[in-house]
Amino acid sequence: MWWFTSPNIAFGEDSLEQLSAVEGKRVLVVTDPVIRRLGMLDLVVDELKKGPRAIEVFDQVEPEPSFENVEKVATVARGFQPDLIVGLGGGSCIDAAKAAWVLYERPDLKLEAVSPLTKLGLRKKARLVAISTTFTGSDANWVAVLTDKAHNMKLDYFASRELVPDLSILDPRFVLKLPREATAHIGLDALVHGIEPYVNQWRNDFSDALALHSIRMLFEYLPKAFDNPNDLVARQKMQNAATMSGLAAGNAQFGLAHGTGHALGIAFHMSHGLSVAISIPYVIQFSRHAAAERYADIAHVIGIKEESFDEATDRLVERTKDLMVHLKTPLSLREAGISQSGFEQNIDGLVENTGRATVTFVNPRVPDVEEIRKLFVCMYEGKPVDF
Ligand SMILES: [Zn+2]
Repeated sequence: MWWFTSPNIAFGEDSLEQLSAVEGKRVLVVTDPVIRRLGMLDLVVDELKKGPRAIEVFDQVEPEPSFENVEKVATVARGFQPDLIVGLGGGSCIDAAKAAWVLYERPDLKLEAVSPLTKLGLRKKARLVAISTTFTGSDANWVAVLTDKAHNMKLDYFASRELVPDLSILDPRFVLKLPREATAHIGLDALVHGIEPYVNQWRNDFSDALALHSIRMLFEYLPKAFDNPNDLVARQKMQNAATMSGLAAGNAQFGLAHGTGHALGIAFHMSHGLSVAISIPYVIQFSRHAAAERYADIAHVIGIKEESFDEATDRLVERTKDLMVHLKTPLSLREAGISQSGFEQNIDGLVENTGRATVTFVNPRVPDVEEIRKLFVCMYEGKPVDF
């Protein structure tokens, strides 16, 4: 027996109007200073003001929020007592809203104590709406990525099915201003959110359907959105595809590229999207024989004609790298500007953090410590993985 969990999703032009139809008299909006400066907070507040509501704003969410940052949001929530929380922004804002929502509803819990096995009993005080301004899929999944500064690690098991927002609003106005580099890196991360659940050990029929179609859409529309940032159709298609792959990954888990990606993020403060994007061609090469038919399916869905699993997967790796080159994204850690000495100083931490990431264990091929080390060396030098 298994579950598939999804928020209600309002998508397309003017879908923000659905926000004023949501019940809630006291609304806490959780966002960051950039979203405020870009005028997106005003759009949301104006929509909320169509009805008699008290509105409070927390606009100081940090990138990949720390426990301390989440605690600040929770303190505002305890003071204001919202019955509706709106996470507005990229993955960090939505994840901060999710985690603060838990602390607000369950003051007896500590963040590090939350895992998928914890019964939270949310929605006694408030409900959650997500308005994504990027392509992280956080609006559709039940995970929050938080930074535990005390232990210098990212908490990737802060997860519960109860954290899936009640409503995700995908209004294309909110992704039009995403800069080109962020579009490339976060768009590639969205692609990996389709690839990893399609091949991993927790895949299922529902996630398969969303994963494959999101991959097809992202290969088509990501380069268009990158080449012409004002292409509203391409942006809208990317937005939908990213939430679809977010649903796939949220319901079937991620894989090794997210294990290595989180480790790279900690070691080099590299963005999540870039670190996951650099990882994926190497992770496909490492995992290919454990899910050969699955990688061939992905290849065929993006129009690769080769029939044999091996040839199809070779072409898939090439097409992925071609896409990265098109998006001006580095193909190795060296190309990304990591020095040899910086890499050598961090390799032990990279191996350790990847080895203990929960996502590593659902990958089609689970690496041992030596294999993780060799994988990072290939990733640094840009050499194919052939072990
Ligand atoms: Zn990701």
